[in-house]
Amino acid sequence: MSDRWIEETFHADWRVSLRATEVLHEVKTDHQHVVIFENPTWGKVLMLDGVTQLSTSDEIVYHEMMAHVPLMAHPNPENVLVIGGGDGGVLREVLRHSSVKKAVLVEIDREVIDTALKFYPQIPKGAFDDPRTEILITNGLEYVANTDDKFDCIIVDSSEPIGPSAVLHTKEFFADCKRCLAKGGVLVTQNGLAQLFPDHLAGTTRVFASLFEHVAPYMCHQPCYFGGLFALNLATDEAAFTGVDCKTLATRAAERLSSHLHYWTPSLHQGAFAFPADLERVVNEAITAGRSGDDRGYDATASV
Ligand code: SAM
Repeated sequence: MSDRWIEETFHADWRVSLRATEVLHEVKTDHQHVVIFENPTWGKVLMLDGVTQLSTSDEIVYHEMMAHVPLMAHPNPENVLVIGGGDGGVLREVLRHSSVKKAVLVEIDREVIDTALKFYPQIPKGAFDDPRTEILITNGLEYVANTDDKFDCIIVDSSEPIGPSAVLHTKEFFADCKRCLAKGGVLVTQNGLAQLFPDHLAGTTRVFASLFEHVAPYMCHQPCYFGGLFALNLATDEAAFTGVDCKTLATRAAERLSSHLHYWTPSLHQGAFAFPADLERVVNEAITAGRSGDDRGYDATASV
């Protein structure tokens, strides 16, 4: 049977197509379209609603940067909430920290967890069965609106702001995340391809600036997220989190981790907060706007 080419369909004006030498699983769940396939370059690829979520060849980049930047910035992260992240990659990295006592994963679609275990178990790597892990299959928006639990770190590992993930990019959601943070807690969210979608970076930054004392977006280079720099956004009321020195970061890593990492380093942590000039202006303007009452979030419908 000839190979099938599977397209990313998120972008209105351009598409990326990956050759599927084998489609391992494809289903429309109650929440989204899920397809998992093999590609000679990328390994196994997960797409949700036509957007590449991960590839087994380079998932380490995003998952390490999503987890270790906030956790290493925190002096003693014990209770962590991951919203989304059903592939288990962020949860796996969170649990590497010996300081973590409890990790709650709130994932809306059980299918993503089940298919991770079946097709790329090396990504969750036992994280779902760790005694510190609690898995809740529910909508992250409802969870943060109703829980009384408090967390030192909340990591929003959502998909793009379409489909079930759209609510995870709203002020309502982020305001409730803030409510769920323990004193001195830190919130991180994925914030899209910054050079292609600066409005997404600006929108989340405005909302964060309207809610928190400190906003610090940072970048990683995630090869399978085609289109350049991939932004993550960090917010906290604790001044000490932004600008943690390399020596402190290295000490925390040595104290907490029992094996080496593949991407995150103390100097990469620090460097990730450095922006190209144009994006720095986007961020600074958004912070000023957010601080002066303009808390408009990002409207993805305007870009697809
Ligand atoms: N790390 C990759 C990335 O950032 O593109 C993958 C993210 S992970 C696969 C996104 C997860 O968010 C999916 O498993 C999806 O089911 C889940 N999700 C989407 N909307 C959600 C919601 N409202 N509440 C909880 N989980 C949600």
